[in-house]
Amino acid sequence: MRELEREVMTPEQIGEGLLKVPAGSALDLDVRLESLHDGILATANVVVPTAGECSRCLTTIDEDLQVEFTELFAYARDEALEYEVSDDCVDLEPPIRDAVVLALPFQPVCQPDCLGLDPETGEKLTQPRPERASEVDPRWASLLDFDASEPGQTPASE
Ligand SMILES: [Zn+2]
Repeated sequence: MRELEREVMTPEQIGEGLLKVPAGSALDLDVRLESLHDGILATANVVVPTAGECSRCLTTIDEDLQVEFTELFAYARDEALEYEVSDDCVDLEPPIRDAVVLALPFQPVCQPDCLGLDPETGEKLTQPRPERASEVDPRWASLLDFDASEPGQTPASE
C-alpha cells in the first residue's frame, strides 16, 4: 500500500455549468493506492477550488469542492472495469474529472437560503418579500381598467 499527497494544477477547465473549476487551479490530491490481486485500488480525496455565480442572485461563488472516489485499475483488460494499469502507472485524471463534474451543482447557491433578486429593483433580497395579495403583474396592469361589461371598450393604452 502506498499513500501519496500531491498538489497538481488542473490542465484545463472542469465543468461547463454556472460553477466550474478554472484551468490552472491548484488541486489537492490525497490518494491511497492498494495492490490487490487483480489490480490497484485507488482511494482518493480531492479538494479543488471552484468559481462561478449563484443561480439565484448571481453573487460570485468561490469555494472549495471536496470529492472522494474509489476506483479499481485492472492489471489486465477487464470489461467490467473502466480503467487499467498501463506501464505500471494509473492515470487518475479521468476518475478525478468524472468525480468533480458529478459533484458540481447544476444550480449553485451562495447560501442555502439565498432569496435571489428582487423582481422590481433587481437588488439582492436580504429578507423575504412581503406577500402582497393585491399585487398585480405590471404586464397585466392595464387590464385593470378594462370593463368587460361595456362592449367595444379597449384597454387603456399607455
Ligand atoms: Zn445567492
